[in-house]
Amino acid sequence: MTVRFVIIGGGPAGNTAATRAASFGAEVTVIERDIIGGAAHLWDCIPSKAMIATGGALAAVRRSPEMGLTPGPVGVDAVALRQRIEVISEKIEHDTRQLLESQGVRILRGNGCLVGPHQVVATTDDGPIELEADAILLATGSRPRLPDWAEVDGHRVLSTRHAYPPREWPTHLVVIGSGVTGVEFVHMFSALGSEVTLIASRQQVLPGKDPEVAAALEDELLSRGVNVLKGARAMGIDRHTDTLTVRCDDGRAVSGSHALMAIGSLPNSEGLGLAAAGVTVVGGYVPIDADCATNVPHVYAAGDLSGKLPLSSVAAMQGRRIAEKVMGYPSGLHRTLDYDKAATAIFTVPEIADVGLAEADAFAQGRKVRVTKVPFSASPKALIESHSRGFVKLVSDPATGIVLGGSVVGRHAGELIAVVAVAVTNGLRAVDLVDSLLVHPSLAEALAEASE
Ligand SMILES: Cc1cc2nc3c(=O)[nH]c(=O)nc-3n(C[C@H](O)[C@H](O)[C@H](O)COP(=O)(O)OP(=O)(O)OC[C@H]3O[C@@H](n4cnc5c(N)ncnc54)[C@H](O)[C@@H]3O)c2cc1C
Repeated sequence: MTVRFVIIGGGPAGNTAATRAASFGAEVTVIERDIIGGAAHLWDCIPSKAMIATGGALAAVRRSPEMGLTPGPVGVDAVALRQRIEVISEKIEHDTRQLLESQGVRILRGNGCLVGPHQVVATTDDGPIELEADAILLATGSRPRLPDWAEVDGHRVLSTRHAYPPREWPTHLVVIGSGVTGVEFVHMFSALGSEVTLIASRQQVLPGKDPEVAAALEDELLSRGVNVLKGARAMGIDRHTDTLTVRCDDGRAVSGSHALMAIGSLPNSEGLGLAAAGVTVVGGYVPIDADCATNVPHVYAAGDLSGKLPLSSVAAMQGRRIAEKVMGYPSGLHRTLDYDKAATAIFTVPEIADVGLAEADAFAQGRKVRVTKVPFSASPKALIESHSRGFVKLVSDPATGIVLGGSVVGRHAGELIAVVAVAVTNGLRAVDLVDSLLVHPSLAEALAEASE
C-alpha cells in the first residue's frame, strides 16, 4: 500500500523529509504558504550569509596593501547587493522545487491545517483541498520574536527580515540581542561600513558559549570600533526625526539611525489545528520523542517547531529520519539523533564553530578532560592568507583519547569543524586525526597538531 505522507511547511525539515520519503516510494504532498526552502532560504541562513560574504569581500579589498596590492576606492552598492541576494535565494528555491518535482512530490501553495488525526486541509487560491494522510509532518518553522515595547516598522526599527539590506542604509545601527543572530548582524553591518552598537543583556556576548571563544569575538568587535553595552536590557525606543534612542532598564541610552531586534524566535504553531488531531503543544512548541514523533504516533514534528536546536542542518536531519521512519527504513542503520553533537557555526570575523563538549561545560560538570589548543598564528596557511588570528581547541577523554568536542575560532571555522564533528559523532580518537595525511599548507593542519 502506498504511504500517503502530508507535510506542512517546505523549509529544510519539510523539503528534506519530502525528497527522502518520495525516493522510497511515498505519495508525498507538501503544503507551503510562502516559498519552498522556507524561512531558511528566504530570510535566515541564505540572505544573512550572502550579506556577510559581501562584507568579507569588502574587507578583503580593504586589506589590499597587506596582500601586496594597490588600494582603490570601493563601497557598498545597496541595489546591487539586494539583487545579488534575490538571485541567490531564487536559484536555491528553484533548485529545491525542481528536486521535489523530479521526485513526484505534489506541492500545494497555501496554508496547511490539521482537521483531524489523519486529515489535513490546504487552503489554496483555488479553494480548500482536503487530504487524507497515513503520516503527517508538521514543519512550520518559526518567526522573529518582536518586543511589545517597540514598534517594528521595517523602516527604522527592523526585524532580521528587514535587513537584506534595509530600505535606507543605517549610518548607526543599534542591535538588540547578543546571541548568534545578534552578533552576526553586528558583524555584517560593521563589515559593510555602518557604526554599530550592540546591546547585550548579559555580561558575556554569546551567552552560553565557551567564554574563551566568546571573548575572542568580543575583542575583535571592540577592536573594530563596535560599541558594546553589556548587562543592559533594552526596554523602549524613542523616535526622533532622523534618529532614534534605545533606552535600557539601567538608565543607559544609545542613539542611532536604526535599531534591529535579534531577541529570539517564536514557533509557528498557531492556526495549525493541533487540537483537532490531539497533538500536544508546550509553550508554543510541539514536543517530540527520539523518532521526532509527537504524542500522536503518526504525526511528526521537526525543525524550529519541535523546540530542539534551531538550526537548518538539524531540521533537515530530523526530516530525513522522519521520512525513513515513516517508510519503514530498517531501524538500527542510524544512531539516534544526538543534538549535543550538532556542529554549529557563527559567521562572524573571526568565524566561530564548535561541536560536542566544550571545555567550560566539562569543567562545570567536574569532568576530567584533556584540552589542547593550537593558535593559527603558528599555521603557515593562515600566514599566507593573512588571517592568523584565532585558534583550534580540542577536548578529548584523557583515558581513551576519544575526541569529545572542539572549537575553531578563525577563518573557515565552519568548514574545519566538519573534521571534528566526524570524530565526535564516530567516537574517533585524537590520534586518528594525527594519523590522517592532510594537505600542506592547510588550516586543517592545526587540527592535527591540536590532536598530538
Ligand atoms: C537570521 C537567521 C540566520 C540563520 N542562519 C542559520 C545558519 O546559518 N545555519 C543554520 O543551520 N541555521 C540558521 N538559522 C536557523 C534556521 O533558519 C532555522 O533553524 C530553519 O529555518 C528551521 O527550518 P524549518 O524547516 O523548521 O523551518 P523554516 O525554514 O522556517 O520553514 C518553515 C516553512 O513553513 C511554512 N509554513 C508555516 N506555517 C505554515 C502553514 N500553516 N501552512 C503552510 N506553510 C506554512 C513557512 O512559510 C516556511 O516556509 C538562522 C536563523 C535566523 C533567524
